[in-house]
Amino acid sequence: MREAKALSTTMAQYYNDSTIIYNNGQFVKAAEAKMDMYSQSLHYGYSVFEGIRSYKTVRGTTKIFKAEEHFVRLKNSAIAINLPFHWTVEQLIAATYEVLKQNNLGDAYIRPVVYAPANMSFAKNEQSHIVIEAWEMAPFLGDKLIRVVSSSFQRPNPRAFKLEAKAAGHYVNSILASQEAKSKGFDEALLSDMNGNIAEGPGANIFFEKEGKLVTPPKGHILAGITRATVLELCQEMGIEVEERHFLTDELKQADAAFFCGTAAEVIGFESLDNVKFQKNWNETISRAIQVAYKNRVTEKDQKFQSTENNKSQSVVA
Ligand code: PMP
Repeated sequence: MREAKALSTTMAQYYNDSTIIYNNGQFVKAAEAKMDMYSQSLHYGYSVFEGIRSYKTVRGTTKIFKAEEHFVRLKNSAIAINLPFHWTVEQLIAATYEVLKQNNLGDAYIRPVVYAPANMSFAKNEQSHIVIEAWEMAPFLGDKLIRVVSSSFQRPNPRAFKLEAKAAGHYVNSILASQEAKSKGFDEALLSDMNGNIAEGPGANIFFEKEGKLVTPPKGHILAGITRATVLELCQEMGIEVEERHFLTDELKQADAAFFCGTAAEVIGFESLDNVKFQKNWNETISRAIQVAYKNRVTEKDQKFQSTENNKSQSVVA
């Protein structure tokens, strides 16, 4: 009885009886959709997924932010771990807009998952399945500065996994790190790589700020986030210098500010790391300026659309 109640509370957070999902080419009710209990994905964590957001833009439209980049990464993730990928990026973007429309969603979090059929062996599959779900979700680390703790868990060795793939199995590492941080009374974990360099959070990339410059770990031991790439773009546009290089916890603790960035978390500043507070007032940092610029980018507030005689729009970065 208690279990049934817990289940329905969880369900209500993501879907209800009228929620529609995309499932292998069809739009069906989430509550009625089925998946194979003998799926290789369920048994071994062998699937790939994306975390995408759509936003209501300042012009009143709904826009999936960097839709193409996310679905291309989904495809590359599937290819990296040998899961067949039978769909085109265009087809999946169109299906996602339809899911948003059918559920009357504007600001939403979108979760496509490509998973394997029934297969208890480790052999390759000729088939795979896709599901696209969407729901409303606030920034997953909240909107206040967060207290971060160095994790006892490291990110996986890139020779053990295809780390550039967003594969479900990698997230056991993320779950363990995040649960450990919360059990110690912190908001989130920060993981190092196998060499002891700072890598990333369980579901977000990290930047720190020192004397007007930003620093972020290079690709190799991290998931190269689409938000990380957006932050790099914004820095270029705003004339902010960024270094992609390795660094250790001690250097990070001397920083003026630091933040996590990711699709689900957006841009969220650190209050402290291992209870050591960051030096600068967040509101006076360039990190805060990046946080604002990111919000303006996803909602298209930074684009001025001027109608011409041809009714073409011209975008200018403000
Ligand atoms: N690192 C990890 C481990 C993640 O799970 C995520 C979220 N996908 C990110 C970084 C940030 O990636 P993105 O900006 O593409 O969401």
